[in-house]
Amino acid sequence: MSQNASTPTAPRCPICAGTVFGPGPKGRTAPNGAMPRCAGCQSLERHRIFRVMFDRLGPASFARWAAIQFSPDPTVDPSWFASHELSVYGEPGGLDIQSIDRPDAAYDMAICSHVLEHVGDDRAALHELLRILRRDGLLYLAFPDPFREDVTRDWGFPKPEKHGHWRVYGADVKERFAKYLPGQPVLAYRGQDPVTGEWEGAFLLPRSDVSRRRVEAALGSSVSLFSGPAGA
Ligand SMILES: [Zn+2]
Repeated sequence: MSQNASTPTAPRCPICAGTVFGPGPKGRTAPNGAMPRCAGCQSLERHRIFRVMFDRLGPASFARWAAIQFSPDPTVDPSWFASHELSVYGEPGGLDIQSIDRPDAAYDMAICSHVLEHVGDDRAALHELLRILRRDGLLYLAFPDPFREDVTRDWGFPKPEKHGHWRVYGADVKERFAKYLPGQPVLAYRGQDPVTGEWEGAFLLPRSDVSRRRVEAALGSSVSLFSGPAGA
């Protein structure tokens, strides 16, 4: 193999192309011991896993899209979109995701990563996220891996010792989607971090069959129907 001798197996961040990685929050490493945080863009595993997913969806196709993102992270590049609005809860101009102060069908993409577990009424939030999307819009939804446990544990309040989370989603989030969003296809994406090798999943909720087919064509076998009607 004729790789650079000084960095024989250096992984490269798909967001900033950086090759230097350090410990994550509270000094943690990835479960396999690898260093998770990119020194260049501060990304963690999930940001890179889902950046790769967005790269496969084709950022060029977002050029005329209006996007709204709840809570900042480096997964998407705001410059991909015709417009990109960032809402940070509790900061000036921050929106309440349970009652989003925006008109119906105002956006083509809504980006909601690691927010839903901080929200008291996640049913209202999901309805609101879909309400503000245009007909062919797409909701990107991520929260801590729901497949570590079978059953969602919902405390009914934000638990301080659990990072202020109202609940830990379990695999039964599938029934939650079906109950809260009848008829709405929920596609599960699973991908691998090119830096640490860790795997993680997220969900894509297309508003229309056109949007669903576009996602399925771009992501192939990395995406599967998790909840909702079969056959687009
Ligand atoms: Zn980076």
